[in-house]
Amino acid sequence: MKRALIIGGGIAGPVTAMALQQAGLEPIVCEAYQEAAAEQIGAYLTVAVNGLSALTLLDAEHVVTDTGHPTGTLSFSTSAGKHIVDMPIGGTLPDGTTTHSIKRRNLYRAFNAEAAQRGVRYEYGKRLVDATPTPDGGVSARFADGSTIDADVLIGADGIRSRTREIIDPTAPDAHYLGIYGLGGFVTNRALYAELGLRPGVYSMIFGKKAFFGYLVAPDGEIWWFANVPRANELSREELASTTPAQWRDQLVDLLLVDHTPAARIVGATPDHTFVPGFNQYDMPTVRTWHNDNMVIVGDAAHAVASSSGQGVSIAVEDAVTLAICLRDAPDTAAALAEYEARRRDRVERVVRHGAETSGDKASNGFGRLLVRLLTPYFLKKAAKTGVAPLSWMYDYRISWDDRAQSATTSLPVAPPDSM
Ligand SMILES: Cc1cc2nc3c(=O)[nH]c(=O)nc-3n(C[C@H](O)[C@H](O)[C@H](O)COP(=O)(O)OP(=O)(O)OC[C@H]3O[C@@H](n4cnc5c(N)ncnc54)[C@H](O)[C@@H]3O)c2cc1C
Repeated sequence: MKRALIIGGGIAGPVTAMALQQAGLEPIVCEAYQEAAAEQIGAYLTVAVNGLSALTLLDAEHVVTDTGHPTGTLSFSTSAGKHIVDMPIGGTLPDGTTTHSIKRRNLYRAFNAEAAQRGVRYEYGKRLVDATPTPDGGVSARFADGSTIDADVLIGADGIRSRTREIIDPTAPDAHYLGIYGLGGFVTNRALYAELGLRPGVYSMIFGKKAFFGYLVAPDGEIWWFANVPRANELSREELASTTPAQWRDQLVDLLLVDHTPAARIVGATPDHTFVPGFNQYDMPTVRTWHNDNMVIVGDAAHAVASSSGQGVSIAVEDAVTLAICLRDAPDTAAALAEYEARRRDRVERVVRHGAETSGDKASNGFGRLLVRLLTPYFLKKAAKTGVAPLSWMYDYRISWDDRAQSATTSLPVAPPDSM
């Protein structure tokens, strides 16, 4: 049985482990921390229908649907509080499942618990520092604690600052700042809930004058929100370390008070202990080299996408399943990794481009931002009227577990031109 060493126990790590196990390999997950560190970043995530569909191939969609809740509709409004349009976030799966939202921490824990429960071996506190080929065609990984583990293939699911990416190609680019920082939080406030008339299953988005704001309500009445604030330079380490939740809250409320929307009140009601402080937002420009003969990258390590696309988790899951199919079917590891890249690159780079465009809409300042505010309602309404599901190329992508790797280029869906 081929042994696969997976670096990173975030999202891509445990899902790749489950997919490889199903494909007949022996996965081992090595996570740098005692628990996944990335679970601390941001507040919550949406897992779109294309990701949920890929999870059904592993019988693992319940990991999301049991812990998260459906949010199948996006509702846009202006800074004046004027409703623009409602539209679906992707369609529905045959069983009626729609896009779900889930707290980041819960998703990380649930994926890793599911993989461990299926018998996947975990090594916590193992930070990859280097990996070298072995004479028998395998790979030997070295960790910060001085230990080594040998395997047939090494898979870097180690996120946007991937060490595996650097080992495969020392000239690989670094993450790219998107010109915005994010904040988020959770608030339970019955009076606010009743007054705002919140609709379960609807994700409200506001094109504020100084910040983009999104919020939804969970089944237990808790309000989940995020804000994106344009800023030319990254928040410095010092600012991140010294700004208190109360200061972040006051600054954000000031930015939101210029709008006639509930945003400032939602933020103002958020207590310190559920306030997610500011964090810079990045994506990953094209990574030229995804693999060598026995090392490869998946998820954010290969193609981090702006959070505004809501696709990072979903395309990481698609990677995991596709890689497993390729390793199951290809004649050898090198051929499998080449096939995996051939199947994935065009699609994920298109998703990353789309994410960068939507982030650009939020990041622009001055005249650019004014234009976006004025024109977005028109384009959103036009898209809703065409009857063509918005972004169907992104959401309707489906993988078949029975696809043979060699026939991949002809059997997988071909993306039509951008529909939005
Ligand atoms: C604010 C924000 C909001 C987002 N919202 C959404 C959303 O709504 N929907 C969505 O789909 N996506 C969203 N994303 C993107 C999503 O979080 C990522 O795409 C997803 O987490 C990628 O998973 P990953 O496993 O590739 O990387 P990560 O989740 O970053 O996990 C990487 C893991 O590798 C470990 N690691 C790192 N280096 C090493 C090493 N050297 N050795 C061992 N272990 C290592 C880390 O500790 C971590 O546990 C958002 C991102 C941000 C920042």
